[in-house]
Amino acid sequence: MNRGLIIICWLMIFTGIAKGDDVKIVFDKYYEVTAEKGDGIYSLLRKYELDGFSCNFNQFYELNNLKKNAPLFIGKKYTLPILVYRFNGKTIRSTIGVDNWDLAVRIQDYNNRMFEAKIKPSAFRSDMELWVPFHELNCPDADLKIPKPDEPPAEPESGELTAAMTTMNTTSGKRNFPIFGPKYAYTPLTSTKLKGKVFYIVAGHGGPDPGAIGKKGKYRLCEDEYAYDVALRLCRNLIAHGATAYMINRDINDGIRSEKYLECDDDEVLWGNIEMVASQRERLFQRSNVINALWESNKKKGVTDQKMIVIHVDSRTQGKQIDLFFYYKPGDEKGKEFAAHMQKTMKQKYAQYRDYHGTISSRSLHMLRETKPTSIYIELGNIRNSRDQQRILLESNRRALANWLFEGLVNSAK
Ligand SMILES: [Zn+2]
Repeated sequence: MNRGLIIICWLMIFTGIAKGDDVKIVFDKYYEVTAEKGDGIYSLLRKYELDGFSCNFNQFYELNNLKKNAPLFIGKKYTLPILVYRFNGKTIRSTIGVDNWDLAVRIQDYNNRMFEAKIKPSAFRSDMELWVPFHELNCPDADLKIPKPDEPPAEPESGELTAAMTTMNTTSGKRNFPIFGPKYAYTPLTSTKLKGKVFYIVAGHGGPDPGAIGKKGKYRLCEDEYAYDVALRLCRNLIAHGATAYMINRDINDGIRSEKYLECDDDEVLWGNIEMVASQRERLFQRSNVINALWESNKKKGVTDQKMIVIHVDSRTQGKQIDLFFYYKPGDEKGKEFAAHMQKTMKQKYAQYRDYHGTISSRSLHMLRETKPTSIYIELGNIRNSRDQQRILLESNRRALANWLFEGLVNSAK
């Protein structure tokens, strides 16, 4: 070993020790919140994106001296498993004393999301308060041993689904739709502009079929989960404006989710609690049969405007970036016009950020060919392309997609 190398090694060891001994980084406090009406432990932790990690729950019980599943009291202060650090104005890594770049990026994204969602009062660069979720430093792997939420009201049995359905197009009723999850189940009526119109919202794949799989770091991205989240948000928008909207694929325990990485599961069923069969061909017929039966029954009731929106995420080679695009049934002029309205709205919405190049073309796909409503089939992007992944990974983007598609539907209903 030459002298230069020895010096370098010595320096490395020395600075290593110095770092550990001299620079003690301590967080200021845990973040506190006051419980509001309707808060439960699960929904509270979910709101702060802490619900995917059992260590957050354990820490919450410990910090607040609570037993598992204890009730919360309105107006009482509770300590959340979020460590508040005083941001040093330089980097997140030096603020919390880690050198893990990915971790720092996750924490930055978390703070930004919390601020955008108006959950964190100010941005960490302005109030110098950096939030670090407990699990990030203690148990970064999401796990499945999560206490079952006891807040969400039970989903109706299949026999009662029709009753639940009738409440969807009325201006009265409790307007509680458990399918959207505890935080979003209550869907106030904000307008009646879509009253009398029927929409079938179909999230691609589901059940035994996750659809295309993308990869991002150590995470698997399942097409069906992302399509489902956008579909749910779109469906909720429609119901809020007086439409009758059916979520054809249903996952009773998923609801609208805020996290970036949506867990892949296979417990989705079809409208009417129909379990999906293993064969792909039969599964597609199960789906089109459900829609056609509803279409017939709504037609008999005198409904004249019935549309279907199928939502997927495409899979191309990794390098291929694609904008959201549309398919319609070959030879279907109404479908083509429907797609054109939607494309026009997307173009207008994108214009404030960049050019939009989403295409329209016809394609003989089962769901377009075998179903009766006027329909379009949407591909949100390429699940393997890192730029397109951002479109479905970030909650704010999934929300924007659903809002824009909703506006497209309003425009095409005019
Ligand atoms: Zn697909």
